[in-house]
Amino acid sequence: MQFLSRRTACAHIVLVDTEQWIAADKAHCWHPFTRQAEWVEAEPLVLVSGEGVWLQDAEGRKYIDGNASIWTNIHGHNHPYINAAIKAQLEKVAHTSYLGFANPRASELAQRLCDFFPEGGLERVFFSDDGSTAVECAVKMAMQYRLQTGEPERTQLLAFDQAYHGDTLGAASLGGVGAFSKCCQSFGYPVRRLTGLGGLLGLSDAEVQKTAAVIIEPLVQGVNQIKPWPDGMLAEIRSWCDTHGVHLILDEVMTGFGRTGTMFACQHEGVTPDFLCLAKGLTGGYLPLAATMVGDSVYQAFLGDAERAFYYGHSYTANQLGCAAALANLDLFEQEKTLEKLPAKVLLLESLLAAIGGKYHTVYEVRQRGLVVGIELRQLGGEVFHAAHRVGERFCLLARKHRLLTRPILNTIVIMPPLSISHDEIETMCVALERTLKELEQEGFSK
Ligand SMILES: *Cc1c(COP(=O)(O)O)cnc(C)c1O
Repeated sequence: MQFLSRRTACAHIVLVDTEQWIAADKAHCWHPFTRQAEWVEAEPLVLVSGEGVWLQDAEGRKYIDGNASIWTNIHGHNHPYINAAIKAQLEKVAHTSYLGFANPRASELAQRLCDFFPEGGLERVFFSDDGSTAVECAVKMAMQYRLQTGEPERTQLLAFDQAYHGDTLGAASLGGVGAFSKCCQSFGYPVRRLTGLGGLLGLSDAEVQKTAAVIIEPLVQGVNQIKPWPDGMLAEIRSWCDTHGVHLILDEVMTGFGRTGTMFACQHEGVTPDFLCLAKGLTGGYLPLAATMVGDSVYQAFLGDAERAFYYGHSYTANQLGCAAALANLDLFEQEKTLEKLPAKVLLLESLLAAIGGKYHTVYEVRQRGLVVGIELRQLGGEVFHAAHRVGERFCLLARKHRLLTRPILNTIVIMPPLSISHDEIETMCVALERTLKELEQEGFSK
């Protein structure tokens, strides 16, 4: 008799309630960026459904999705239009290989993505699965490009302090947040780390001659506790890159698809990069799909002999369901006038947060770009909380009671709702924030 399952006798029994799901999770699941030892002690939230900006847990409680399901969701959950697009595609085919075959949805999506940029800007799309792979592709292309254009000495990459570009080995080596690359520091790309624009402008000629590309999260660093860059910096980097023959790689995995107020953050400063990395919001937050966009001059260097090809790819490249969701995501920007409605929402959120910030001494700083917000909590007097107090984590646990879900980065609370959030929902979210702050301050910070 063939061995089917350790639990053969009851293999057909489906888990049916919160208790069973949690038990199986604690016994068999391993969560990202999670202290598992603590996780198995705590009472995890089991999310089962969603509607607009609301998520519902297995006990029927509803919460505002305050970080857009880890920065991915754009038009809300369970959107009938995106659902219909995925279903329609599903009736045809879910996935076909992109190695040697084309598919309709990927063709349409590539064309529509390129149309966002001026002619001759970004004309070619390489698909992959998530933000990290979008970055891996861009960097590998940038390196291989130099080998194929007679500048093999340009092997260095410039990246910024505290940057975050993903978790696969190469992407992690570009990041400046130590915790993400601890175990593999001896691997990765040759990276020179810059503190800001000054660091770039101050590079010696010798350094510049070694450099293939600069990579940056434009306008605002996400994982670095939502830190905006100075206005105008991106345009200056673009012009520096042009002067020195260095490629500009923009990691818009978080900032893409309207988060900062324009479709892409680079449009705030009229910048077109040489490489653009997209993922999180690409499918409206429904399915994993990523895109690395490049200009024609980069693409040309990969034509010709077989060894000039870009030998890289994944099994699910250009997944048809993912591309269908992405097309629906783009349609909705037009149908629902998502970008047109943003400025009023951004202003409302800004003013409500300013009012809250004024009342609670724990709010040290509110950093906002569009609907991307970091609320940094500090002690009275501006001193940072001791890490052991885990104030950010405590805040987010308390916030659940007030029906708001989000995740902190250290002691910065990230607020990044789906762009579809209504004015009423912004107010509800801010009430939840305020109640949480009040409770946190009442509890005190000694534990
Ligand atoms: C989330 C993120 C990534 C990594 O994307 P994954 O889909 O998690 O691999 C890369 N860069 C930035 C700026 C991000 O916010």
